[in-house]
Amino acid sequence: MTIKILSNTTINRIAAGEVVERPASAIKELVENSLDAGASRVDIIIENAGRNLITIIDDGIGMNKEDLELSIERHATSKLADEDINQIDFFGFRGEALPSIASVSRMAITSKHQNSNDDFAWSINIIGGEKEQISPASLTKGTKIEVRDLFFATPARLKFLKTEKTETHYIIETLNKITMANPNVSFSLTNNNKEIFDYRAYLSEDALYNRISDIAGKGFKENFTFIEQEYPECRIFGFISTPTYNTGTSNEQYFFINKRPIRDKLLSVAVKIAYQDFIPQGRYPIVYLFLELDSALVDVNVHPSKYEVRFKDSNLIKNLVISAIKQGIREIGSKASDHLSFAAIDAFIPETRHPEAFTEGSRDNYNMDSSLKFRMTDDKVFKESSSPTYIRPSAFTNKITETIFAPTTPMVKAVPEDFDHKQVDFPLGSACGQIHNTYILSQTEDGMILIDQHAAHERIFYERLKKQIINQQIQTQRLFIPEIIELSEHIIERLLSEKEELAKFGLYIEAFGNGAISVTELPALLKCADVRKLILDIVADIDEHMGQISLEKKIKHFLATFACHHSIRAGRNLSIKEMNDLLREMESTEHTGQCNHGRPTYIKLNLKDIERLFERV
Ligand code: ADP
Ligand code: MG
Repeated sequence: MTIKILSNTTINRIAAGEVVERPASAIKELVENSLDAGASRVDIIIENAGRNLITIIDDGIGMNKEDLELSIERHATSKLADEDINQIDFFGFRGEALPSIASVSRMAITSKHQNSNDDFAWSINIIGGEKEQISPASLTKGTKIEVRDLFFATPARLKFLKTEKTETHYIIETLNKITMANPNVSFSLTNNNKEIFDYRAYLSEDALYNRISDIAGKGFKENFTFIEQEYPECRIFGFISTPTYNTGTSNEQYFFINKRPIRDKLLSVAVKIAYQDFIPQGRYPIVYLFLELDSALVDVNVHPSKYEVRFKDSNLIKNLVISAIKQGIREIGSKASDHLSFAAIDAFIPETRHPEAFTEGSRDNYNMDSSLKFRMTDDKVFKESSSPTYIRPSAFTNKITETIFAPTTPMVKAVPEDFDHKQVDFPLGSACGQIHNTYILSQTEDGMILIDQHAAHERIFYERLKKQIINQQIQTQRLFIPEIIELSEHIIERLLSEKEELAKFGLYIEAFGNGAISVTELPALLKCADVRKLILDIVADIDEHMGQISLEKKIKHFLATFACHHSIRAGRNLSIKEMNDLLREMESTEHTGQCNHGRPTYIKLNLKDIERLFERV
């Protein structure tokens, strides 16, 4: 075998294997070129998910005849003026995309440079990498690139493409990221003559908010908070979801560095750490996170697709991201996500049953489709009922009339004697009472709130103890008579191995003869806990979680176990004053919108929501 230098076409096709994996990656490269050219509008028209045709039309600066000819040469770029690859200010810089795509498709580029005085543009065809004659063409502005029969020259690659639906999904996913980061530019996507999206450009201050809202759709406005932190090394901004608004995958975490969408484990870990006190295991917040930093501090030249980056100081960036998100979560503070009250309303609405259905003996002929909503006064809906056996009970209407016009009898007061009107103005309102000894009902200025007293209390306690531990000011209380707890040898050994750790939490244990331990001191906040039960829970915790987990996680587990013990159990009767005290404390404690397990601690219904339930609006 003799060595020979490969032809340009072969080199380009090899490169295409890395740069152009599928239609979505070709589209990404071409759209990024349009953005680098300063386009304010980019239209993407595809056929058969980009397999048959990809057309990208932009209104950017365009190319003159010489540049057009050069653009499809390998390593030809206008974006590295000083050839300094540490200072990259454009999406492109490798000069590879056009020659690579051109080598595996039938490409036509038409372009007109903005400074050109000609009446015409220039156009060039490249078929499987073979350049044809450049010629005048008609185009008033910008650049139009058509890519037909992608991968026709590399049939093996063609075989790897997935169904049209899947490839379209990849394209939309790719474009969503680009459009999110460039809200000042209009974008449209059309597949097989069907418009998929048409995002208009936003030029105002809230451009980013508007664009992400367009893409994310329902739920964005209610459940996200804008964060922004400026550090000497980098600016971090974007939108993060309220902890209770979470999903089962991490796919909805978007990261951008200098507008470039990237995938990065480090940033995912940072998000996880920032949210770890607020989100249950296996759930993920949704974030749109933008980092702006000097391009010398980040290397994007890790892979030709430019999805991966290397930070100069990755720990620093990680810590800044954690800090920025934590600050945001703090600001979300006691807010539980709004989708919960919407969910509550949705849960209520199908329940709008005919009251007769709840009276003895009428259940059997109540057989309506549970999704059927109807108004009690509207005869028409009964005709739509799925149950032909349903007969409208006329006695019911009589009953309503009786109630409304009944002679006035003493009314039962809806609020208790000690209801405190002055506290209605507080965000969590004034307590009216307790339901099932578990939920506090409170009245606010503009609605009502249902609070899970156990969950709320657990969070308050958790935050208090955490603060004491962080400040190393844990207040303890010596037990007058130490609590002796008998346990098996093996468990005692495990417990004693965590002795030092537990002491940091204010829980002091000692070996006590054979087969027992004594508890001598407890965190003061835990003074009324069932010590034996607490120790058994800690043992369970150690067994379940303590294998090889980090100290930070251990602390979290211990705290959660402690908090659970201390909290007002569901089922405990509270006085109105105790309830109000709990509400005020929730307001003054961070993160009280969720309990330690990431469940919401309260649900709010505004008067508007309540009116909707009763179909008054
Ligand atoms: P890179 O973007 O890394 O420079 P490409 O192969 O993608 O490499 O593009 C080569 C060159 O062609 C670019 O540097 C740019 O000068 C020019 N070019 C490509 N697309 C456009 C466009 N839509 N508008 C204007 N110029 C373009
Ligand atoms: Mg490029």
